[in-house]
Amino acid sequence: MEQVRKHESNVRGYSRSFPVTFTSANGAVIHDTDHKQYIDFLAGAGALNYGHNNPFFKMKLMDYIDKNGVTHGLDLSTEAKEHFIQIFNKYILEPRELKYKMQFTGPTGTNTVEAAIKLAQIVTGRTNIITFTNGYHGHSKGALRLTANAHYRKGLENELNQFTTFIPYFGFLDGDFDSADYLDKILSDSGSGTDIPAAIILETIQGEGGVNVAPKEWLQKLRKITEKHDILMIVDDIQVGCGRTGNFFSFEDAGIYPDMVTLSKSLSGYGLPMSLLLIKPEIDDWKPGQHTGTFRGNNLAFVTAAEAIIKYWKDDEFTQEIKGKSAKLLRILNQIGEDHKDIIKDVRGKGLIAAVECTDAETASSITAEAFSNGLIIETCGSDGNIIKFLPPLNIHENYLNEGIKIFEKAIETIKQ
Ligand code: PMP
Repeated sequence: MEQVRKHESNVRGYSRSFPVTFTSANGAVIHDTDHKQYIDFLAGAGALNYGHNNPFFKMKLMDYIDKNGVTHGLDLSTEAKEHFIQIFNKYILEPRELKYKMQFTGPTGTNTVEAAIKLAQIVTGRTNIITFTNGYHGHSKGALRLTANAHYRKGLENELNQFTTFIPYFGFLDGDFDSADYLDKILSDSGSGTDIPAAIILETIQGEGGVNVAPKEWLQKLRKITEKHDILMIVDDIQVGCGRTGNFFSFEDAGIYPDMVTLSKSLSGYGLPMSLLLIKPEIDDWKPGQHTGTFRGNNLAFVTAAEAIIKYWKDDEFTQEIKGKSAKLLRILNQIGEDHKDIIKDVRGKGLIAAVECTDAETASSITAEAFSNGLIIETCGSDGNIIKFLPPLNIHENYLNEGIKIFEKAIETIKQ
């Protein structure tokens, strides 16, 4: 309602792209006040991998509230937290032979990134962090230093440019340029002007930056280079972790073992705020209470997060399901790309994150607006806004997946008329 919206700060964004009032949501669909249904390929910007109001987690959550389970945060030991820690260890870390300590860092993904860079600086005694073109790590000033998009940095550039070196992500430059080799060179050559940093931070697939997929060989090479120069590797798995690529962690195919991993978004499984920093035990140099925050342990989120792991990650059945849907989604999108070469430059993705790159931002936003009016929520991404991103819930029913893609295709046909 415009009357109400005018009281909200000018900074609001999503409610401009999708200008209706939403009321209820279930699985892969969300409804507005006119009872119109939308298929949700935005899924809370990746925070709803298991769909809206997942019935399994809802039941557990209601039981927990009903028995007056502790709800507030801090980092008190609670049954809910201890249960989550056990489940995460048993079904996520141990089977993958990963040994990490868990730091619960606050409600949002950005909180985790802040903790990771602070710890990297404390452990190494160095300040500089290497980050990548088109990377996205959050909007508080520490995390924003590492985020490339000029729109978000505007007005703060002088402050943000400290202690940060941006280098090209895989594929940022045309041709054979390999930024991993470049990194190795600037760290080895005393004439490069680049001090040995505390860490590098990267996404294995850049979500906000345009769904840029890094090949596993490049990730392996980066891991070797960081080891060689004794710098920490932080993988930001906030958007593409928790199953988005098919495996629980996005770096599993590459077989690398980062020093720290940031998780948030879909970790709680229910859209509840939760974030977690995974830290190799040997670098867990925090002193007790050195990094605190009131909402560092949302017990409701611990309840649903543990249930999500038990329901979906005890074996590899869900991975197979995601990979099956992924193959289908990418096959159809590639076909759409072939059929509309005049406005589609590229189609790419992995697991259930996919992108259709349009020739320009206007085309991309007309398609997403037309799709929205026909009942599909998809957003644009990339610093030029010309890339349409697909993030359906991972457990989406095939019928909704098909229907959503049909609406998308029809939107392209309509805007071309
Ligand atoms: N890192 C990545 C990779 C993200 O995609 C995001 C959110 N889009 C963040 C960090 C920041 O998370 P939050 O918005 O929850 O603070």
